[in-house]
Amino acid sequence: MDDEDISGESSAKRRHGYTEQEITRRLIEAIFEQRLPPGERITETQLAGIFGVSRSVVRLSMSKLSDIGVFRKTPNLGYTIAAPSRAEARMMLNVRKMIEPDMVRSITMSRSAADIQRLADHIAIEEAARQAGDRSKLVRLTGEFHLKLAEISGNVYLVHILTQLQVLTCLAILVHAESETGCPRDEHSSIVSAIVEGDGDKAAAGMMHHLTHISEELQIDNLRPEPSLESALRWLGAGPESLICTS
Ligand SMILES: [Zn+2]
Repeated sequence: MDDEDISGESSAKRRHGYTEQEITRRLIEAIFEQRLPPGERITETQLAGIFGVSRSVVRLSMSKLSDIGVFRKTPNLGYTIAAPSRAEARMMLNVRKMIEPDMVRSITMSRSAADIQRLADHIAIEEAARQAGDRSKLVRLTGEFHLKLAEISGNVYLVHILTQLQVLTCLAILVHAESETGCPRDEHSSIVSAIVEGDGDKAAAGMMHHLTHISEELQIDNLRPEPSLESALRWLGAGPESLICTS
């Protein structure tokens, strides 16, 4: 990262300070680029230093991200970056399946030439990042594709809801997925093709297929119990006899 940090900005820019909204946006971008590891502790002092602002400014941003579940606040420990469980990932993807197929069906009906150009441009830069092997940028762009669709829908509530769900999905991908982006190659472009063709059913089916694919990547139907501190402590408390082979 050389002269960049999680904010992605040079030290010269950082010295100018940021607003609360800019800090929130930069933190979301950092998560989209998979620069912030799930489960890690993050402090007001760290962020205040990085962004060149007072702790009260970063506190507002951290509180906002905590309200939408992106940061978790624990007594004594402070803030950690969310590490969604498989059960939480399942709930996120279920909500996205309820929303996003209908969203693209609706966009297909209302799309303008400018909307189509915007989507085509996005697919082109996604492909350029893939060709260049720029993994961080590709991960961010694949996440932003879904938000771009929400913006094109013109529904501000949809943008808010999908921003939250998309950021949390990115964190869940880091915790649970085998692949890097969670958005398989070519699926975005086939959704855009259906929107361009004016085929709402095809666009909705493409989005449902895509979200099902992401669900599979996240192994949300894996019924194996998830590791928890509570069960680990129980196991540790069981004593050394658990090491004895009885066969
Ligand atoms: Zn996607």
